[in-house]
Amino acid sequence: MTADWLKELGALDCGALLTDASLAARTTLRVGGVAQALLILERIEAVPKVLGICQAAGVPWRFLGAGSNVLVTAGSLPGLTIATGRLRQVMVTGPVVEAAAGAALISVVSSGHGAGLTGMEWAGGIPATVGGAVVMNAGAHGGSISDHLVEALVVCDAQPARWIGASELAYGYRHSALIGSGQGVLAARFQLQRGDLAAARGRLAQALAHRRRTQPQGKNAGSMFKNPPEHSAGQLIEAAGGKGHRIGGAQISELHANFFLNLGSATAGDVLALVEWAKERVAETSGQQLELEVRVWRADA
Ligand SMILES: Cc1cc2nc3c(=O)[nH]c(=O)nc-3n(C[C@H](O)[C@H](O)[C@H](O)COP(=O)(O)OP(=O)(O)OC[C@H]3O[C@@H](n4cnc5c(N)ncnc54)[C@H](O)[C@@H]3O)c2cc1C
Repeated sequence: MTADWLKELGALDCGALLTDASLAARTTLRVGGVAQALLILERIEAVPKVLGICQAAGVPWRFLGAGSNVLVTAGSLPGLTIATGRLRQVMVTGPVVEAAAGAALISVVSSGHGAGLTGMEWAGGIPATVGGAVVMNAGAHGGSISDHLVEALVVCDAQPARWIGASELAYGYRHSALIGSGQGVLAARFQLQRGDLAAARGRLAQALAHRRRTQPQGKNAGSMFKNPPEHSAGQLIEAAGGKGHRIGGAQISELHANFFLNLGSATAGDVLALVEWAKERVAETSGQQLELEVRVWRADA
């Protein structure tokens, strides 16, 4: 029997609503179970109503971007998962690029270039959506979202979404007040600057080439752990003998020890076992406690 909250969501007509939808297929690590309900969002105006329905029914929700920083465990993830991938609009006004949550982060860079604006070339190769990048404070090569974000359009509940300034988001290294809060980022405005486009394109090409040289291809979720202060998680795992270590179908990359690969047949359990193994080995060998950067979504087994 279909739950009332699902019927109410269906009646909103704000995107396709699927049940028991594979989340493995929507994450770059390609492991894990299904979403009890998955909304492929098409209309951002409807989001407060969506959250209001969930709230009234006591149903949990979370937002999903490109799934490049999420590890879903096996089973069924209760409640509603809201996928933003269809919201891709990007628009440039003066020195500001405004992008919808599901736009690829790189499209902020390329739209900026199209208008003679530069500054976010560090983002080249990060497979994020704008929403995921704003929440995670994505960064590379010394740059990060918090250097450029002016404001984000945030929704928390049945109230209308509102623009919140970057200074209110408690940004830190791969941290923001939005992480795990259930709040949704629907759009974001980034400040870029007029600059030398040829030099900017050169920086972008360098960022991409650096990634190709130093990071593995294949199914992974980027850096598994945050870098502890003054340390590199990858170097700590490598020094602990982790490179190439394998559990089931999951393996620590030979190229970069902070990248954990699904060799094709990995389960979420294999990846989590490898995570525990790496944490223990690093604690034993260096005394450092590794903290996950990847967000783990625990499904009901
Ligand atoms: C090959 C590879 C390389 C990577 N390199 C980097 C790198 O250099 N630097 C870096 O910082 N990261 C890197 N990552 C990790 C990842 O790309 C970033 O964390 C990115 O910001 C996640 O964006 P996403 O859209 O995939 O978010 P998801 O993985 O879908 O979600 C991540 C978190 O954000 C939340 N979220 C997503 N969208 C929204 C939204 N609209 N509203 C509210 N919450 C939302 C989710 O609920 C979840 O908690 C890499 C990943 C891969 C696979």
